[in-house]
Amino acid sequence: MPKDLPSDEIRRALHRAADLAADYLESVERHPVVPRIQPGDVARQLPVAPPEHPEAMDAILDDYLRLIEPNVTHWNHPGFLAYFGITGSGPGVVAETLAAALNVNAMLWRSGPAPTELEGRVCDWLRQLMELPEGFHGHINDTASSSTLVALAAARHRLPGLAVRERGLAGRPEVPPLVVYACDQAHSSVDKAAIVLGLGQENVRRVESDAAFRMSVPALAAAVAADRAAGRLPMAVVATVGSTSTTSIDPVEEIADLCAREGIWLHVDAAYAGSAAICPESRALMQGIERADSLVTNPHKWLFTPVDCSVLFVRDLANLQAAFSLVPEYLRTGDAGVTNLMDLGFQLGRRFRSLKLWMVLRAYGVEGLRAHLREHCALALALAERITAEPGFELAAPVPFSTVCFRAVPAGLADPAALDRFNERLLAGINAAGPFFLSHTALRGRYTLRVAIGNVKTTARHLDALWDLVQETARGLLPE
Ligand SMILES: *Cc1c(COP(=O)(O)O)cnc(C)c1O
Repeated sequence: MPKDLPSDEIRRALHRAADLAADYLESVERHPVVPRIQPGDVARQLPVAPPEHPEAMDAILDDYLRLIEPNVTHWNHPGFLAYFGITGSGPGVVAETLAAALNVNAMLWRSGPAPTELEGRVCDWLRQLMELPEGFHGHINDTASSSTLVALAAARHRLPGLAVRERGLAGRPEVPPLVVYACDQAHSSVDKAAIVLGLGQENVRRVESDAAFRMSVPALAAAVAADRAAGRLPMAVVATVGSTSTTSIDPVEEIADLCAREGIWLHVDAAYAGSAAICPESRALMQGIERADSLVTNPHKWLFTPVDCSVLFVRDLANLQAAFSLVPEYLRTGDAGVTNLMDLGFQLGRRFRSLKLWMVLRAYGVEGLRAHLREHCALALALAERITAEPGFELAAPVPFSTVCFRAVPAGLADPAALDRFNERLLAGINAAGPFFLSHTALRGRYTLRVAIGNVKTTARHLDALWDLVQETARGLLPE
């Protein structure tokens, strides 16, 4: 039995994989964005029992090509405009392959010196590009959900006198409820963090938003005051920069003022729009993020880095380490003056994620990244202008970045429930056509379609075709 593939076979299989990947990226538009399959269709073609005997890589790769590639939802397709359109760019694909070969687990500096130091450096590059002050320390997690959980744990650790790390929260009547504030537009990862941290979902205050879907600061101030009056302890405010539904931007500067006055931790969730902070004109829309205690942004959303890559910046690294560091004897190394990534969160092990961010930043260069982000914003604005100009359609939210929310409002269809149904059918019709995939949201309870532009290969030609398809589909749905 060979211990691993012989090196000439690894080489051959990797060469074939390189062809498969490059062919795929070159011709991804052959596929409908969403595969036309039903639940169970893939599982039915997979053997129920595991293989008893070794199989040849060529046979396995043949099956990959037949069973897997056509049956994924094609996130790397320029017509993928759902959720947040993303790009797993070529430099990132190359980096992921090499990271797999190294198979480094960078829990400690000693267990991954170059990965640890590269992670520090590329996160600092990103800090500079986002115009965050020196002293912010960045590290990489899998997702924004993990980053926000870690940030809120750090916020909890900073509360004086509670010793939650040692004593927990349960069975302690002297500990008041700890409250987290976020806009009614904020991501559900805030609630999930409250669930995991034992704060309880009831202690997440969803603060109302204004007409542009931004957190109302007077409502936030009133909620904090009411909680204090009732003996609860305000712990953190999560300000969203680029909310998931509309990419609205909470007024971070005013929220930072309130947090400073009240001694409350400020966490900024910029999972999607944080990437745009590398463009000065977009950074200007986010004044105040430099005052956060912690900030998360996902290069895997809008900085052309393959999933997963979420950067968490914290202002007080020592506090984060104090919240999480727990070093068993077998991991004590005596290396002085190093950062051990295992001290910065709940996971011990760390994938080598900085390699792909490094290769992406270098291969595009800052000017390349900025050019693509600006192009996406310009495409979104152009689409928004068409929607506004077209009778029978309305823009449903402002467009500060590259995401457009809209709905059809055909003449003579005034009943809100009927309008919602119409738009639901419109979305289904658009997605059934194949070349595009859009998703939806609810804004003030009303069904809304979203176009999120984030793939480097999405061009004006695609959006022209999409807009034709939207209008054509809507016409086809009009009641006789
Ligand atoms: C996408 C998103 C998240 C969650 O991201 P994950 O990395 O998938 O956990 C959190 N907040 C905002 C604003 C988002 O858009």
